[in-house]
Amino acid sequence: MTNDQQKRPKSMPSDVASWLQSELDRVEQIAQAAAVADGPVWTYNPGDYWIISGSGGGPLVYDEGTPTGPQARHISLWDPQSVLRRVAADRRILAEHKIVRVLGWAADWQDSCAICGSFQVPCRTVRLLAEGYGWEEPQ
Ligand SMILES: [Zn+2]
Repeated sequence: MTNDQQKRPKSMPSDVASWLQSELDRVEQIAQAAAVADGPVWTYNPGDYWIISGSGGGPLVYDEGTPTGPQARHISLWDPQSVLRRVAADRRILAEHKIVRVLGWAADWQDSCAICGSFQVPCRTVRLLAEGYGWEEPQ
């Protein structure tokens, strides 16, 4: 048994954007693989929450493991389609907060976020985005 959450590597701040890009790739590949057999949309029937079905028509969970109602709701909330949508949005946020070279106060060229204008790069937005994937700010 593995736990993908615990296998996530930590990285230094200067590597946050590339680490996040790799993490988005990894999460996307897991969601795509999970969708292959039974489709990307997973739903449950509130009256029969122990049955979680895929949009491909097959049951993913059927009276085995017996998820509780809240667990069934959580599984269907974070189905492959939801994860892929989140990854796509996060990729766009990461791309918008790219690092650009700007002329600084001392007439020198400095790295800055293209959206925030922050000279701390990657910017706070990228760092917070990475935290959502398990990255931790070094102490
Ligand atoms: Zn930014």
